[in-house]
Amino acid sequence: MSVITLEPDSQIAITPLLGLSLAELTTWVQAQGQPAYRGKQLYQWIYQQGAKSLADITVFSKQWRETVKDTPIGRSKIHHRAVATDGTIKYLLELQDGQIIEAVGIPTAKRLTVCVSSQVGCAMACTFCATGKGGFMRHLQPHEIIDQVLTVQEDFNERVSHVVFMGMGEPLANLNNVVKAVQCLNKDIGISQRSITVSTVGIPGKIHELAEHELQVTLAVSLHAPTQRLRTKLVPTAEHYPIEDLLDECRDYVRITGRRLSVEYILLAGVNDDPKQAAELASQLRGFQTHVNLIPYNPIEDADFDRPTPRDIKAFVDVLEQQHIAVSVRYSKGLGASAACGQLRANQQS
Ligand code: SAH
Repeated sequence: MSVITLEPDSQIAITPLLGLSLAELTTWVQAQGQPAYRGKQLYQWIYQQGAKSLADITVFSKQWRETVKDTPIGRSKIHHRAVATDGTIKYLLELQDGQIIEAVGIPTAKRLTVCVSSQVGCAMACTFCATGKGGFMRHLQPHEIIDQVLTVQEDFNERVSHVVFMGMGEPLANLNNVVKAVQCLNKDIGISQRSITVSTVGIPGKIHELAEHELQVTLAVSLHAPTQRLRTKLVPTAEHYPIEDLLDECRDYVRITGRRLSVEYILLAGVNDDPKQAAELASQLRGFQTHVNLIPYNPIEDADFDRPTPRDIKAFVDVLEQQHIAVSVRYSKGLGASAACGQLRANQQS
């Protein structure tokens, strides 16, 4: 299996300002010999006005802007933008070092959800996932995660209400940076923690570590199979993490945070969509405060899976409902623009 690299690998020499709190920005301006109130101005320009560079901040003197113009705010460039018929917009964003990541803006009646990436690529190598096919490049820094939300907010000209960590990468492999980004999205951009979902295949010990941060974010576990044997075939990293241990850690998360668990289950025809497997899934989740999201497979290149028929999907749902498991079927948004996980980037780069 591939090596899982955990934690920071900073490739950026100067820390960008995006991601810093009001207190940190105030300390920074004071270290530059400026009065404290400039910190508040800087904070407003970064988080509310969307300043892309210090040179844009016209309330600062020209002379001072000239002195600090090389300190980056840390915003990325839109490299490509694709609008789907359902209004979903997919972005390829170019980072400072030229790496490309995906972010998706998903508008619905009362919400604007952003699906963010947490890494460039992914080391988990899930067999049905386009990102997994491309391998791992690096972790994202907090500002590179926050930037995705600001970019979508500005492009839609509408406040982002929800954030899901379901783009490229495994958020719990980059836990510290993800937690910093969540704290900033909450405190500085005003998104409620309860409206932020962190999705993971599970890495031993990391769900517990997330719980200890005592955030109110929703944990979504990408389970995809009711048994260890089948799960290992779909999610190779599960080999080192028995499903019982994973579910124990999830129970811990529910106990510590008081939050309900989301379970993600991709539906692959003839692989994990049998009603018997639905019954096994129900028994794994018995006694749990959960909501199961069934995601019919979205075809990708180089993968030999099929999407189940609507009839088979319904049969699977029926078994779960009979077992009193809360369940929804979620179709990937914006299929017309190759929206599913990793697909837009894969298409653009080939
Ligand atoms: N690494 C994390 C975050 C990535 S989001 C995790 O695995 O949870 C991953 C989600 O994208 C998975 O839950 C899966 O449901 C979905 N996904 C990936 N590839 C898909 C595909 N080909 N079709 C439908 N959903 C897919």
